[in-house]
Formats: sequence, C-alpha cells, structure tokens
Amino acid sequence: MTARILDGNKMAAEIRVEVAAEVRALAASGVRPGLAVVLVGTNPASEVYVRGKVKSSEEVGLYSEKHTPSETATTDALLALIADLNSREEIDGILVQLPLPPQIDAKRVLLAVDPAKDVDGFHPMNVGYLSTQRPGLVPCTPAGVMEILKRGGVPVAGQEAVVVGRSDIVGKPVAMLLLNQNATVTVCHSKTRDLPGVCRRADILVAAIGRAGMVTRDYVKPGATVIDVGTNKVSDRKEFDRFFAGNKKREETFLTRGSTLVGDVHPEVAEVAGAITPVPGGVGPLTIAMLMANTVKAAKLRRSQK
Ligand code: NDP
Repeated sequence: MTARILDGNKMAAEIRVEVAAEVRALAASGVRPGLAVVLVGTNPASEVYVRGKVKSSEEVGLYSEKHTPSETATTDALLALIADLNSREEIDGILVQLPLPPQIDAKRVLLAVDPAKDVDGFHPMNVGYLSTQRPGLVPCTPAGVMEILKRGGVPVAGQEAVVVGRSDIVGKPVAMLLLNQNATVTVCHSKTRDLPGVCRRADILVAAIGRAGMVTRDYVKPGATVIDVGTNKVSDRKEFDRFFAGNKKREETFLTRGSTLVGDVHPEVAEVAGAITPVPGGVGPLTIAMLMANTVKAAKLRRSQK
C-alpha cells in the first residue's frame, strides 16, 4: 500500500484563490487589508521567507510593506516601530520575522504587537483565545495543518491524534486545534516514554520535532494519516542515502543543490500510512497561505470589534 499524498501546494493555491476573492470583496467596501513584515538584519533564510511573504501578499492583492532595521537595532528601536505600526489604520497584520538578533528582547517585542494585528498568533492574548475557543488569530503553521486535514477529507472528531512536539509555535497550538475539533489528543515530547508505542495509537499523527526522518514505520499504525511539519536540510551523502537511496529525482536535486529537504518522518512511512504530507510541498506552502488568510481575518475582526 502507498499512502495518499496530501498535496500542500495544491491546497495552498486553493486558499490563495479564496483569499484573493475575499480581498476583492473587501475592496468593494473600500478596505484593502495591509500586512507589515519586519525583518531585522540579514539572516539569509529569513530573507527568503520574507520575500515569499511579500510576493504572496502582492499576488492575493493585499497591501504590504517591509521594514528592515539593521542587525544592530535595539529593543527600544523595534518597540518604537511596532508602536507606529500598531497605530496605523491601514496596517491590519504585523509580522516580526524570527529569529531576532540576540541583543533584542524578542518576548518584549512580540508582546508589544497589538493582539488584533498579531497575524502570527503568538501573542498570549491570542493563545488564550485559542484555548478558550474565542475568535482570534491562530498561528499559521498549525492553522495550515488543520486546513490539510479538512481539505484532505480526514475526519478529526473522535479520532486519536498524537502530536510529537510541544513548542509554542507548532506543537501546542496544533494540539489545541485538534482538541477544539474533538479529537482525543496526546502531546509527546523528548521525555515521553515509549514514543513509538504512543504514536502507534494515532489515527492522526503530527510530527513537529525538527529531527530528520525520526518517525519511522514502527511509529505508525497502518492506514493512519501522517502530517509532517518538520523541515530539515540534509547535505551529507550518507544521510541522503539513508532516506532516498534509489530515488533518482531526489538525487538530481541533491547533486545540483548540494542538499535536499527531509521532514521529521522517514519516507518509508508512505508504505504504511493511509495519507501523508510530502516534504517539501506539504505543510510548508500552507504556512504562507494561512498568513494571507490571517491578514484578511485580522482586517475583518478589527473592524467588527470597533
Ligand atoms: P522546537 O525545537 O521548538 O520543538 C521541538 C519539539 O520536539 C520539542 O517539544 C521537543 O521536546 C520535541 N523533541 C525533540 N526531540 C525529540 C525526541 N527525540 N523525541 C520526542 N520529542 C522530541 O521546534 P518547532 O516546533 O519550532 O519546529 C518543529 C519542526 O517544524 C522543525 O523541523 C521546524 O523547522 C519545522 N517547522 C516547519 C514550519 C513549516 O512551515 N513547515 C514552520 C515551523 C516549524 P522538548 O519540549 O521536550 O524539548
């Protein structure tokens, strides 16, 4: 048996079309949702992410602007920038790209973002809204995981869901979203006993660990849905062979780029799972699509709450 592929690129494209339609509908009432992205310094990976976010904003018709304080910016300078963005009516979403340089008090900066404009959903106010099932902004990657389940026709209510990883950014909010949709949720982490045994209980297994190919076939109940959030760069040949020996297409990428991406789930899991997200092309594309959706949601929520 080979698992059904849950195609994140296709689902993200559908979401972008829906968001673009909402943006057009808002334009008819004179509203153009605006996203401000703050990128401090010159981290190459962050620059790539921010470029993708700005490009995607333009494609769906959002107003967007990029702020690029220097690598040596102070916490106070950043707080002043956030205060300005908070006060501007045409800005609906504020995204501070992480990680921030070490001299910056990241927690203080994230706390300063107006919760109504917190399109990353990291502010404690939005965390509270999520856990008490009130309308608010939900972190993009976890929201993307739920979209994959919905659009992939995977039932959630009453199912056993196991989430490996308990970060504030992915694991915890995914667990809360699954619980809110009536799954029976178990959250695992580095201290969990018999991790493979716990994971084998899952009808829906979400891996958000950050360890290349850690989830092997012995973690997975035959027929389970496996959502792989991990993105790990593999540039070592031996490591590559461990995952992709004999996979010609992957080998081409690996030889041209010198690396390839692998999730937290070993590719062999596709032989036992019922449905699975690929890496790349699974959860990743949904993250940016949900940022677009969140910006529109923020624009609507803020206006409805005035
Ligand atoms: P963190 O490092 O913040 O959290 C990792 C979690 O995995 C922790 O809870 C940790 O447990 C747990 N863990 C680590 N090792 C083990 C182990 N051996 N057994 C069981 N649990 C373990 O990572 P994030 O949540 O930020 O990200 C997870 C992955 O998702 C990364 O690969 C990241 O790159 C990817 N990611 C992908 C996104 C996308 O758009 N596709 C967006 C965000 C993240 P403990 O708490 O005990 O330390």
